Amino acid sequence: TSVEKTLLSVLRTIPDYPKPGVQFRDITTLLGDASAFRRAVDELVHPYAGQKIDKVAGIEARGFILGGAMAHQLSAGFVPIRKKGKLPYDTVRVAYSLEYGIDEMEMHRDAVTPGQRVMLVDDLIATGGTAEAAVKLLRQMGADIVAACFVIDLPDLGGRKKLEALDVPVRTLISFE
Ligand code: 5GP
Repeated sequence: TSVEKTLLSVLRTIPDYPKPGVQFRDITTLLGDASAFRRAVDELVHPYAGQKIDKVAGIEARGFILGGAMAHQLSAGFVPIRKKGKLPYDTVRVAYSLEYGIDEMEMHRDAVTPGQRVMLVDDLIATGGTAEAAVKLLRQMGADIVAACFVIDLPDLGGRKKLEALDVPVRTLISFE
């Protein structure tokens, strides 16, 4: 589609970053392109326009950039989901596994209230481990997760299926096999 073409043309792939064998999909070139950035945000929120969305929850750090713009578009609040130790107030915390070892992410306890309709966003979904941890945090606080949105899907790594198995609808704009 034309959206995919537009977005593909402004994404940059960095070979062997952050380590040999990895093809890193760099979205900074998309964010820096005025019309592509607007288009990506518009496309992500499009199916939800007119629905009541209370909060957009963005995953540190690239999910903050997309999520702030989406929250504005949807007239929703914004909730940061961060690496541990960065948030100043009482938090809920969840451990999740990385390629090597584990890490933890946090959200403020009062960031969402039970029953609030929340959209989750990050730039890219690979194994889905990061997004799954965010889903756990949001659900722990009683959020109703309307959808999880990503600009890029790496379907071979199974993240979409993982989220769908948790009954989280997934929206992505482009995929790399
Ligand atoms: P997952 O937990 O789904 O395996 O990995 C997704 C997380 O890693 C996201 O927070 C995403 O920002 C980051 N990530 C992994 N690979 C890439 C990549 O190639 N490009 C970008 N921009 N982010 C990546």
